Amino acid sequence: MDFLRPASWEEALAAKAEHPTAVPIAGGTDIMVEINFDHRRPEHLLDLNRITELSEWEVGEESVRLGASVPYTRIMEDLRAELPGLALASHTVASPQIRNRGGVGGNLGTASPAGDAHPALLAAGAEVEVESVRGTRLIPIDAFYTGVKRNALAPDELIRAVHIRKADGPQQYSKVGTRNAMVIAVCAFGIALHPATRTVRTGIGSAAPTPVRAEAAEEFLNAALEEGGFWDSGKIITPSVAKQFAELASGACNPIDDVRGTARYRRHAVGIMARRTLGWTWEQYRGSGRTLEGAA
Ligand SMILES: Cc1cc2nc3c(=O)[nH]c(=O)nc-3n(C[C@H](O)[C@H](O)[C@H](O)COP(=O)(O)OP(=O)(O)OC[C@H]3O[C@@H](n4cnc5c(N)ncnc54)[C@H](O)[C@@H]3O)c2cc1C
Repeated sequence: MDFLRPASWEEALAAKAEHPTAVPIAGGTDIMVEINFDHRRPEHLLDLNRITELSEWEVGEESVRLGASVPYTRIMEDLRAELPGLALASHTVASPQIRNRGGVGGNLGTASPAGDAHPALLAAGAEVEVESVRGTRLIPIDAFYTGVKRNALAPDELIRAVHIRKADGPQQYSKVGTRNAMVIAVCAFGIALHPATRTVRTGIGSAAPTPVRAEAAEEFLNAALEEGGFWDSGKIITPSVAKQFAELASGACNPIDDVRGTARYRRHAVGIMARRTLGWTWEQYRGSGRTLEGAA
């Protein structure tokens, strides 16, 4: 196995163009497991660790441009205000050691339906900035996941950054696992209230072949909140609306039975998490959250 160690982003893109089957390595917390277990033996490993800009981020007016290799620990500690949903999801990833190494670029590269960043990115609204020697493109997060552990990257492309919309309202992330730490999700749910546009977005993890949004649930809730004047009044969401939202979220799942849980359990748990996270975020919105932009 050849180890390519580009010193700059340009060198990395050139190396990927020359060796399209080269496998990038960032934190290594996914790829090294595969190599150690002999599940994969790539001809070339493309080490991205010398490219410092991949571990940097910029906070803009409307979004955060998060370098592909920014570790979860930094998101938790430095970007909690801008990206609360992703910060909460980051907290649930593995252990401090893994969170110091692993990042969102690697989670997207692996594109496991159980990756914890995905529901938070789907709920917040994000675009993946990918680049090759041919140029740069922004892939909407909804179009990024193309199958089980498959993504929309072309063979010569690398992930440069993720553009994530800054929170304009409360966000939550909930994960079911067999214990509180070092656990891959049995299923997970992310929600983001967007008072500025009077919309709610969601993300479901580990309950379909890819991470997905509960679109029918979002549409139902958006209409119910608008028609009932909830955004203006901040009144409590009626149990029937919350129940219908939960049922539609459950219906968005297309899970399988596996070692971590049954399909039936996953559907049920996603409904529970949808109802709970809606309750938590709405309570936050009714309180301090309502002073946020667009809610006045
Ligand atoms: C013990 C343990 C526990 C874990 N627990 C969790 C958990 O709770 N939740 C969770 O979501 N994950 C978990 N993981 C998986 C892993 O930590 C995450 O997926 C992490 O985000 C991977 O990031 P990384 O930088 O280490 O990726 P790497 O292992 O370096 O790479 C992962 C994949 O992404 C590709 N890649 C990396 N960077 C780029 C780039 N810039 N452009 C294109 N492709 C790229 C690589 O080629 C590879 O295919 C766990 C792993 C371990 C070992």
